[in-house]
Amino acid sequence: MQVPEKMHAMVLNEPGQSLQYREMPVPEPAPEQVLIKVHACGVCRTDLHVVDGELTHPKLPLIPGHEIVGSVVKKGAHAEAFKIGERIGIPWLGYTCGECRFCRENRENLCDRPLFTGYTIDGGYAEYTVADRRYCFPLPENYSDMNAAPLLCAGLIGYRSYRMAGDHVKRVGIYGFGGAAHIIAQVAVYQGKKVFAFTRPGDVQAQKFARRLGAVWAGDSTEMPPELLDAAIIFAPVGSLLPAALRATIKGGIVVCGGIHMSDIPAFPYQVLWEERVVCSVANLTRKDGEEFFAIAPKVPVVTEVEPFPLAQANEALNCLREGRLQGAAVLTME
Ligand SMILES: [Zn+2]
Ligand SMILES: [Zn+2]
Repeated sequence: MQVPEKMHAMVLNEPGQSLQYREMPVPEPAPEQVLIKVHACGVCRTDLHVVDGELTHPKLPLIPGHEIVGSVVKKGAHAEAFKIGERIGIPWLGYTCGECRFCRENRENLCDRPLFTGYTIDGGYAEYTVADRRYCFPLPENYSDMNAAPLLCAGLIGYRSYRMAGDHVKRVGIYGFGGAAHIIAQVAVYQGKKVFAFTRPGDVQAQKFARRLGAVWAGDSTEMPPELLDAAIIFAPVGSLLPAALRATIKGGIVVCGGIHMSDIPAFPYQVLWEERVVCSVANLTRKDGEEFFAIAPKVPVVTEVEPFPLAQANEALNCLREGRLQGAAVLTME
């Protein structure tokens, strides 16, 4: 397959600055890597945290993006598993050491020496990228490139957050109704759960969207739901939602924080946590999460709502996400 020498990419030179549209050399795959022609790359809230400097010590300069859909155009010497031309997805988890205690205990999401796509290694805001083939996923065929992109992080980490809430839960609250929420709400409804959606106060559009996806109730994050929740998942990066979610949760219930970054959590009375309520966070993903999620998504079937942006407009896409001006997920296209 013909691979050019140069490509276009959106590059972060310094946190706090806009990304720069640049011409760069197309990378060469190492022995375990594949070179991928990127078709689409989703824009995730984590990208915003990296660009804004809330996640510290990124690789610099950096090509962000970790919801990558593309096709294999070249393989390293040990990357036999995939065929040239095969469509694959590249997620946030880019590499794990395989040796630390967490890797050995099947908790590779907590690896001591991990690499993360679009954070500590280059990602998919580019026409080409390389990825370790062991962390790539084959993608279900019934999704277009654009619609598959948000499944790779919003879907995967959303799914891990949802699983963390427990199989037995019946009433699930979701705080922050964006990329991850709109995917997970569909899985939850498919599995017979009642979904309660909490949005920014007054965001009638997002509330309508949630109801359209099967939520039995949608309202402001400052409101109490009509029934207490068995579990709440917080996707919005807003610390004050944690005590609010605990108050909306029944005895023995759980509140899962699904984001990588959150503003400080305000103090709250112990009473709000008491009666065996549990608070936990979700970090990264394992490859097993990916296999499970890509098996279930086409069965639901999860339908993703996407807003396309050309690669060169990545800054505009990030701004829309920052300001809550998106419904569903922003996806960069390379055509
Ligand atoms: Zn490890
Ligand atoms: Zn993400």
